[in-house]
Amino acid sequence: MKKVLSHVDSNMNNLVSSLQTLIRQPSVSAKNEGIEECANLVKKMLQKSGVKSQILRLGKNIPPVVYGEIKSKKNPNKTLLFYNHYDVQPAEPFDLWDFPPFSAKIKGNKIFGRGSADDKGELITRIKAVEAHLKVNGDVPCNIKFVIEGEEEVGSPHIDPYLKKFKKKFSCDGVIWEFGYVDSKNRPIVGLGMKGLLFVELIAKESIRDAHSSLAVLIKNPAWKLVEAVKTLRDSNGKILIKDWYKEVKPLTKTDLKIIKREPFDDSDFKKEFGIKSFVGNKKGMEAKKALVAGPTCNIAGFVSGYTGEGAKTVLPGEALVKIDFRLVPEMDPKKQVQRLKKHLKAKGFGDLKIKVYHGEAAARTSPSHPFVKQVKQAADESYGKSIINVSNAGTGPMHSFVKILGAPCISIGSTYMFARIHSPNEFARIDLLKKTTKCVCLIMDKFGKN
Ligand SMILES: [Zn+2]
Repeated sequence: MKKVLSHVDSNMNNLVSSLQTLIRQPSVSAKNEGIEECANLVKKMLQKSGVKSQILRLGKNIPPVVYGEIKSKKNPNKTLLFYNHYDVQPAEPFDLWDFPPFSAKIKGNKIFGRGSADDKGELITRIKAVEAHLKVNGDVPCNIKFVIEGEEEVGSPHIDPYLKKFKKKFSCDGVIWEFGYVDSKNRPIVGLGMKGLLFVELIAKESIRDAHSSLAVLIKNPAWKLVEAVKTLRDSNGKILIKDWYKEVKPLTKTDLKIIKREPFDDSDFKKEFGIKSFVGNKKGMEAKKALVAGPTCNIAGFVSGYTGEGAKTVLPGEALVKIDFRLVPEMDPKKQVQRLKKHLKAKGFGDLKIKVYHGEAAARTSPSHPFVKQVKQAADESYGKSIINVSNAGTGPMHSFVKILGAPCISIGSTYMFARIHSPNEFARIDLLKKTTKCVCLIMDKFGKN
């Protein structure tokens, strides 16, 4: 392993210039800009590193998945899969960037550019780790597969059908997730799960057109109706009031609680960051940490009705709309939850609201006692000095699809500095973290292959 790791050290220039090449190829899925070109570039890059690769397709207008595979001569019975994405978020607003977003400008320890961290930076650490093993040993410690999609930034609408169609091809014993954060004290976070998400829109309609507000004595206001409906969903402490909403949810285990306790979290720093005085339900310390890991939410993402422009306008709107996202935790089935929401609204007298469901995705978690967790944690400790285990990220990703369809544990680990401005202007990757993560991935492959 020493030789493999020192190969990473002496080939950092090569890693950095490969990442620059990737950044310079825009691949904005939201605008279908450069998607095919980027997929081809990634395919070529994999091949150059010694990984057999091909473009997989589901249909004509669906962005392709780049697939890569290399069999281990030494250990052909175990397979590690890297899931990443080659698409990026739009770079707008361009004028807030210090350097052009697709120029891959290097300044000191940072490479700036859209996708430098999310997710081209992460992808390059996986590719270069495999390359290091191949260059030094002419072999990899276990079979390696790459599944690199082009729609992550638009919600991975086709990852499920891709996984189903190519289930056999993608079969594996463990998945390294596409992202991974490093905190302000240079500790990588070994993530074992993601929450699920249910996104809905509720629409209330009353009159066929907006009216003069003097008529509010006679015409019902749909905005009031929505306010009243939404008020029945959740109490002021954040508890969701829909019947059976928490029915399948299991409490955190003793091990989960132990891990959560060990996670660093500073209430006052967090509050300062957002300029807030207190948390929902006045949570403190451990309660706040538990909520981040395992708290379901009912959040108003947007509320629109009537006149919202400058100054006054006495209007009685004909329509009102609210967008709500619910974060889900393991065992909550988005389809079941939608039915419960509908039933609830009907029972409360709001059966005439129109409900539009945009997105439903279940949560996923890998058990902390799975041997894969120990291997990744050890690799992270060796490479970074220290790491932190996180039972579940507070956000959502298609992890459940991988766990359910491939039946493999998923763990996130990576090189993205917590404040790397991903999705924002001046996104950057830190070269020191790219190096540590590449070494960490080399070590993960080695440990995974041995056990
Ligand atoms: Zn992203």
